[in-house]
Amino acid sequence: MGEIVFWTIIRIFLLIPSLWILKSYIQYQTWFMLSLMSIYGVIIHPTIIHYRLFIEQNKEIIESTLCSSCKHFDESAVLCMKYDEHPSKVILPCEGEDWEPNSSEYESKDVDIDS
Ligand code: SF4
Repeated sequence: MGEIVFWTIIRIFLLIPSLWILKSYIQYQTWFMLSLMSIYGVIIHPTIIHYRLFIEQNKEIIESTLCSSCKHFDESAVLCMKYDEHPSKVILPCEGEDWEPNSSEYESKDVDIDS
């Protein structure tokens, strides 16, 4: 996830000055439309594509590992926050010893975890 944010920031830093320089060479209306299209094409669209790829590549880890039901698991980064490591389908950083139920999961399913 951090890589997606990093490359999005790099593209923003490259595109904005380019558009700023281009502004003095073409008509404003053309520049405005070109800016909108390039912001979508260079920044927004690649970010969406990379995010979807990230989700697709990590779908099994997010949905079907022990970590996916643990309160220390950050789905958005596919990260164990307790060990600051990325779990995989076969390797859990804690090897299951520090697993704790995700209470929000139980609340959303209206399950009583005390019984
Ligand atoms: S504590 Fe263990 S089970 Fe929980 S997210 Fe980290 S590695 Fe996974």
